[in-house]
Amino acid sequence: MIGKLLDYFNSPDKNIRRRDVLKIIFLSALGSGLSSEASAKKITVYTASRANPIDDHIRDYLYKMRHFDSPHRDDIWIDRKVYQTFKSTVGRLKRLQEMVGHGNYHILGFDDALGLARHYPIIGEFSRKELDFLEELFYKDAKLYGFLGEKSLLRLTDRIEKGDVTYLAQQGNYLYRGRPLETFNKIRQQVGKTVTLTSGVRGIMKQFLLFLNKAYDNEGNLSLASRSLAPPGYSFHANGDFDVGQAGFGVWNFTDRFTTTDAYHSLCELGYLKLRYEIDNPFGVRFEPWHIRIT
Ligand SMILES: [Zn+2]
Repeated sequence: MIGKLLDYFNSPDKNIRRRDVLKIIFLSALGSGLSSEASAKKITVYTASRANPIDDHIRDYLYKMRHFDSPHRDDIWIDRKVYQTFKSTVGRLKRLQEMVGHGNYHILGFDDALGLARHYPIIGEFSRKELDFLEELFYKDAKLYGFLGEKSLLRLTDRIEKGDVTYLAQQGNYLYRGRPLETFNKIRQQVGKTVTLTSGVRGIMKQFLLFLNKAYDNEGNLSLASRSLAPPGYSFHANGDFDVGQAGFGVWNFTDRFTTTDAYHSLCELGYLKLRYEIDNPFGVRFEPWHIRIT
């Protein structure tokens, strides 16, 4: 397992530098995020040998990535002081999505979201505390809770222009015009309709909801959420990347089992699977064989 990560360390063409591996070592060594509350929970603790501290930290990191959906001893949790605000924000985002529809919600920007919430009593205006919470999460360095990828959006208010994207009604998702749409159309021509678009363009509000909902389902564990979903502002779905799946495979498309499908094998053979999050990647993210890198 360590070998693969060290490949990144040594490989000049992957644009991964020494500091990325050092970041992992630093963050794995942090271990200070364990609240007493967290320690009371059933948390898988990986006990590393003491032979080589650097190897141990990398091994610990890789263990976490392989067990991405379990809490770990150095995970960072949402502060209990803002937990109520976190909870009410998730509720408001869900009502917002219901109101605008799942398709439209994919490309909803921050300012438009605020306007809609203010206008429709069924959603209700975001409170000052909720706005501060969203803003802090967006501008906080995600490395603090273990996500090591690059930021894709610089401003909270960055928006997706409708003219830049195309809605694929059958897929229920948007794709950027140009390379992403051309790539998906080529895939469909070559592989057939067995390949579906499981997630296309995702703007900031969609990423907030996905990420916070994942954290909410896991009692506010930000680190756990970030192993499966890029934090708001860090998702390349805002810039052109998209997810593919096999028709009829449902939620299994977002698991390692996707690699057993005909769709996956065809995509590999045709060279379409340029993955952003490879197995044992150094970004603090689980293996995502379905996520196609465009940018
Ligand atoms: Zn993806």
